[in-house]
Amino acid sequence: MKNLYIAKKHWEYELPPLSRTDEMAKRYDDIINLSVGDPDYPTDKICLDLMYQDALAGHTRYTEYYGDPELREETINMYREDYGVTVEMDELLITAGGTHALYIVMQTILDPGDEVIVIAPYYTYYKDEVEMAGGKLVVYNAPPDKKFDVEVDELEKLVNSRTKAIIVNSPCNPSGKVYSRENLQGILDLAEKYDFQVIADDIYGALNFTDNKMPLCSYEERPNRVITVYSYSKDFSATGIRLGHIIARSDIIDAALNICGGVTFTICSLSQRFGLYALRRRKEIQEGLRAEYQRRMLYAYERISRLNHVKCFYPEGTFYIFADVRETGISSMDMWDKILDEAKVLVLPGDGFGKAGEGYIRICCTVSVEVLKEAFDRLEKMDIFK
Ligand code: PLP
Repeated sequence: MKNLYIAKKHWEYELPPLSRTDEMAKRYDDIINLSVGDPDYPTDKICLDLMYQDALAGHTRYTEYYGDPELREETINMYREDYGVTVEMDELLITAGGTHALYIVMQTILDPGDEVIVIAPYYTYYKDEVEMAGGKLVVYNAPPDKKFDVEVDELEKLVNSRTKAIIVNSPCNPSGKVYSRENLQGILDLAEKYDFQVIADDIYGALNFTDNKMPLCSYEERPNRVITVYSYSKDFSATGIRLGHIIARSDIIDAALNICGGVTFTICSLSQRFGLYALRRRKEIQEGLRAEYQRRMLYAYERISRLNHVKCFYPEGTFYIFADVRETGISSMDMWDKILDEAKVLVLPGDGFGKAGEGYIRICCTVSVEVLKEAFDRLEKMDIFK
């Protein structure tokens, strides 16, 4: 009976439900869980202390609708100092993280039937966000044999009069891909040619190990085509703080402000104080974080290279390795079960990120090198990888 109260659309997903991952994590006692993108790296204690002090000093009230003014000013400073981008106060809205930001953006820009292109493999929740706003997800399958690079000519074939936006997530979850400057510029040129928006999901901005670090918003002089979605979850190892922002043209932010008001009214005042101090300490915090994740990724990369029938490309960003197991002839879903049953390591099946991910598994390198070592020692013993 209870299910009758849940909208039918929630039972129509092709993607493996997250609840199945939780169930699988309970299958054995000594599982190494490499399925969840939750950074195992400490949240900065100085920022937390300052946040507590601000709580005691009375920062426990509603903030301004656009967000805490000090945090907004600091955010604007960051974009200017780090990327040379000018953002005005009315082009920025503080949100309760990236997911909340994506939800608000979709509700703001989509009319029923509007299309949003995603580049597969893509972050699972894009589908929900687009469909909840009445939109239609259009999937561009990035070619696996070209390291999931975008072929702009192919992408262009998916554009039509209903195309409202494309989501670009660079560095990308799950592929770890950092799209080239030519790719990013090509996508922006398409948006200009056909008059749609580019939603830059910059959630892994600090976890970029290449020289190509400039975010998409820096490709424009003023926020125009690009809508930036940002989060403190990964870049500051603060998934539970639930903080992020949207940067866009002021008319988009104006509409987003009303939707945000109806969803959350204002954002948690303490999280916003955390964000303020985190931005002020960003260089220090992110240098350590990036170095540690790069170390973990390179370790995993090196261990994968020693396994038979598994391949991956050199880590470019994020903390995910998207490993190609097509040579084994086993599907992503079956490999998911097999690895759990034989090695007691929980990963995620690649096809959970769109069909382009079939034949892949996603391995989260969020845990320490010691834990990764144990996980790869177990994988190495599996017959299929010998
Ligand atoms: N976008 C991408 C690509 C992600 O990987 C995630 C989380 O894993 C999010 C958005 C949402 O993160 P949050 O809501 O914690 O900011």
